[in-house]
Amino acid sequence: MTLNLVAIAAALLAVMGKVSVAARRAQIGILLQTLGWLLLMATTLVEAESLADRIMSTLAMAGIAGGLTYSAIAFDMWCDREAVARAPAIIAIVMTVGYCIGYGNYAFRVGWANGLLTLQVAIVVIALCRPTDVPVGRWRWLLVASLLMQMAVTASRGVLGAFFTDLFPNFFTPHPANVLFALATNVTVVMSLVGILLAHRDQAERELERLACTDGITGALNRRAWLERAALVVTDSQRLHQPLCAMLLDLDHFKEINDTYGHEAGDRALKLFVEGMQTVGGKRNLVCRYGGEEFSVLKRGADLDDIRAYDQRLRAWLAEAGPRELGMPLSYSAGIAVMLGQRDSVEAMLRRADSLLYSAKMLGRDRTLDEQALEASLT
Ligand code: GH3
Ligand code: MG
Ligand code: MG
Repeated sequence: MTLNLVAIAAALLAVMGKVSVAARRAQIGILLQTLGWLLLMATTLVEAESLADRIMSTLAMAGIAGGLTYSAIAFDMWCDREAVARAPAIIAIVMTVGYCIGYGNYAFRVGWANGLLTLQVAIVVIALCRPTDVPVGRWRWLLVASLLMQMAVTASRGVLGAFFTDLFPNFFTPHPANVLFALATNVTVVMSLVGILLAHRDQAERELERLACTDGITGALNRRAWLERAALVVTDSQRLHQPLCAMLLDLDHFKEINDTYGHEAGDRALKLFVEGMQTVGGKRNLVCRYGGEEFSVLKRGADLDDIRAYDQRLRAWLAEAGPRELGMPLSYSAGIAVMLGQRDSVEAMLRRADSLLYSAKMLGRDRTLDEQALEASLT
């Protein structure tokens, strides 16, 4: 089993290549567990119950429990959780310290170490089973199965060692309990490895999906992803007979900003603009970088008054944030399209918004037009 762990730790470090923070935690976890088991094996080389034995065994416990803690941190990160593995970390420390202090009593140390390791694994299992905000792959059930098996053998070792001390064989004798432990741990080591690799791939896929849907500079949805989602929102709103509005926005004289302040300042302006669009609107708004310095937003449940109010908030926000963040004012022109009944579509709404945006530019920029406002401005 230790040989297996050594091979896996070496393989994980050698072939995973560039890894995320979570995957790095998982690698450290396996590495620490491997070192722990190696140390435990190495205690056979020193005199039993000597000081060296005590130190090496304690470090071994620290490695095993610490390694599990690192794995737990990785699992939490892969499940997109904010708070990571506090309880397993505390148990690892308490277990190691208690083990070192109570080392002189064989029954105590075996019961203590295995009991707390069982508790630690149980907490990791519970964390893995809790519902998550993001979709998490089936790797977590593989890990749960493998950890449950580890829990069962660790718990039985603890009970045997603490309460049936005379029956409990030395760790290295070919007693059935040890054979069972070695076999079960071998299986869990391999299953955990598969789980870790699947989780790693899951995360990479999620990241690729995010990259494929968002614009690199502003973080807003790109056109393809926005159109896809917007079509669903339109159908939804039609089915529920809820109002819906779209707005197409284009920064004014953006080329001049680039020419005067440089492309980097231009990029910062784009970013700030999206920040404003997201700040003044609700979370359910779909904000998109439609292309270049053109943006679109789809506002669920919004009628004309709502989207006009949104536009006013954005203008007020920009009037304050533009000079503060960029050292220059940033203005935009926009066209608003209200969804017209059951036969309307995103594409048709965008066409109407685009034509109004064009009129807004023609009329002098720095304004937002809807059908009513355009008629009013013409009469
Ligand atoms: P108008 O008021 O008529 O919209 O004028 P404009 O200058 O904003 O419009 P125009 O279409 O002439 O220029 C758009 C500019 O946006 C040109 C292009 O260099 C710039 N641009 C497009 N994408 C980016 C980008 O990602 N970063 C930066 N910095 N500039 C960009
Ligand atoms: Mg422009
Ligand atoms: Mg443009």
